[in-house]
Amino acid sequence: MSEQYRIQTKLLHNEHKVHQETGAVSVPIHHSSTFHQYSFDKFGNYEYARGSNPTRKALEEVIADLEGGIRGFAFSSGMAAISTAFMLLSKGDHVLITEDVYGGTYRFVTQVLSKFGIEHTFVDMTNLEEVVSKLKANTKLIYIETPSNPTLKITDIKSIVKIAKTNKCLTFCDNTFLTPVFQKPLELGVDVVLHSATKFLGGHSDVVAGLAVVKDEELGEQLAFLQNSFGAILGVQDSWLVLRGLKTLHVRMKASSQSAQILANWLYERKEIKTVYYSGLEHHPGKVIQDQQSSSHGAVLSFEFSTRQQAKSFVEKVKLPVFAVSLGAVETILSYPATMSHGSMPEAERLKRGITDGLLRLSVGLEDVNDLISDFEQALDRL
Ligand SMILES: *Cc1c(COP(=O)(O)O)cnc(C)c1O
Repeated sequence: MSEQYRIQTKLLHNEHKVHQETGAVSVPIHHSSTFHQYSFDKFGNYEYARGSNPTRKALEEVIADLEGGIRGFAFSSGMAAISTAFMLLSKGDHVLITEDVYGGTYRFVTQVLSKFGIEHTFVDMTNLEEVVSKLKANTKLIYIETPSNPTLKITDIKSIVKIAKTNKCLTFCDNTFLTPVFQKPLELGVDVVLHSATKFLGGHSDVVAGLAVVKDEELGEQLAFLQNSFGAILGVQDSWLVLRGLKTLHVRMKASSQSAQILANWLYERKEIKTVYYSGLEHHPGKVIQDQQSSSHGAVLSFEFSTRQQAKSFVEKVKLPVFAVSLGAVETILSYPATMSHGSMPEAERLKRGITDGLLRLSVGLEDVNDLISDFEQALDRL
């Protein structure tokens, strides 16, 4: 693979930069569900496209390389990647999972996994003593997401991995918010990295996709078996869209996270706003760990008004952001976690996690940050 290059270069100069046979500089889209076998006795590299397809495989190899893994897998959504990875577990196993996990993962663990006899306990992953105290004899997995959504809590990945290894558990890490540009969980000891490629990796709000990457041969074999058995694979057009989005990942992440830092500082000074959640702010309890394990604080931040009415008024008065579910796109996206990303969480659970009725989440895009500030200013002045 292309180890010798830095990630910005790797995004463009990897083993799929030129198609071997034709010289095409864009990965060809192979619309073929099955592949002719030239020999009666020995099958070729491709048989049936659920198992493998050259376009999907290109994306899987690229993401594996970027994350520093040996094998990647592309799925039809982030939830398909996450759900399939959970199938590495068996009946009777127990999962320790971060309490502010993505809403869809919360729903899967509480309403689907539980039906198959797999137990779970939610923990505050920033509290290592609590994590250790909640381990059980049958705990087989510690599931983390950092920074978390939407209150941007930082989990100390290395310390969690150490706890997991001591207790012979696997560690999964949802790396959607930072991407391998800013954080490489496999290098910190995590076993499976998961992505909603719908977000920053795709980057243009035009595709729903999920990815998983491992660095262990045996785990790779198991996940390949599950991907083919469950069958929630990514189609070839969508694989191509993610490959195309990846080419600009570094410049997008860099520009958006710089603007996010500026906006977080600016919002923090505004009296209308009660709290700003962003690990790049000096007072954030996870800032030190974040600076050690990642190279940026990312492009997502949240901020809280005292009331639902103020949050509503702000959303109605800003002009630039799209008001929508999702994040990680070229355009700035403002969302209301209480009814959007965390709409499937019971109210009491939601409030316990700090997801109040005044909280808004902002995914900063590629607009000029001064235009975003002017827009926010006119909205706050007229709340
Ligand atoms: C969106 C998201 C998911 C789910 O991904 P889909 O592509 O929507 O299925 C999982 N984790 C995080 C952190 C997300 O933001």
